[in-house]
Amino acid sequence: MYNLNGKVALVTGAGGEYGIGRAIATRLAKEGADVIVSDVVSNPYAYDSNDWEGAPSVVREIEALGRQAVTILADVSDADQVDALVNEGVERFGHIDIFVSNAGSRPGPDRVPVVELEEEAWDTVHKINLKGTFLCCRAVARHMIDRGGGGKIITMSSVSGRTGSARFAAYAASKFGVIGFTQALAQELAPHHINVNAICPGVVDTERWSYIAAALSPEDISGEEWRASGRHNEAMRQRDSRVPLGRVAVGEDVAKTAAFLASSESDYLTGLAINVAGGSAMG
Ligand code: NAD
Repeated sequence: MYNLNGKVALVTGAGGEYGIGRAIATRLAKEGADVIVSDVVSNPYAYDSNDWEGAPSVVREIEALGRQAVTILADVSDADQVDALVNEGVERFGHIDIFVSNAGSRPGPDRVPVVELEEEAWDTVHKINLKGTFLCCRAVARHMIDRGGGGKIITMSSVSGRTGSARFAAYAASKFGVIGFTQALAQELAPHHINVNAICPGVVDTERWSYIAAALSPEDISGEEWRASGRHNEAMRQRDSRVPLGRVAVGEDVAKTAAFLASSESDYLTGLAINVAGGSAMG
């Protein structure tokens, strides 16, 4: 549908089996792009599945589609690792045309009322979600400007980046920040023909919802235990009815918007924050 032949994409946080990052990485490859598949560890949900190997599994999927892919690990909150990620990606493929800033902090101790929120939990969320977005966009933008061929940058906010809700204070603040950052960067990079847009997903059925459900539960239960208990699907199906279009999203729903924003079809769009929320958030 979109022609991304000859383009190279970098996607962070792309090693989860059900994650948005995997869905975007493989969708961009289906559209013709070669992909740098990045994550902080090779297999972020190693305990979860029998034969899922994380980022290397995503690489194999992309290669099976006839495109090239490589895994490069990096912590998005560490400037040196981020710069090395971008440099290594450029060395491997020659250029980066599309960047998807998808990595996000794992929900847990941050999902408490503000009066109980520890400084460390607040800092972790902001270090990964907001500083990580800044560091990665800075490194990629420097490369794109030097190269002079334009580019597409897609940041990952959330419907929580538009409306705050109880026990989501740190997360919401970081995702509000991502939208402000996206708008500022879009203005700065427009003269370089680099489009910068944010996606704001509603509930997407990924591994992270086991961690959110566990954190919000009155039980003393970890995200891993929640997932192993088999209650994940049940909780997701309960949320389906709250979405006007009748179901929570899957990663592929977000990937469709990412593919559009990565393509020349979005050349006149920049500085936007687009809800992918089945009607659960409007405006
Ligand atoms: P996820 O938690 O499954 O994936 C996040 C990925 O980021 C993981 O692979 C994780 O290993 C990686 N990561 C964590 N810390 C990192 C670090 N320091 N450096 C590099 N990578 C790191 O989440 P997901 O549901 O696939 O969400 C992806 C993005 O979409 C996140 O930014 C999230 O906030 C956002 N989002 C998700 C939902 C949802 O309902 N799932 C809704 C709105 C927004």
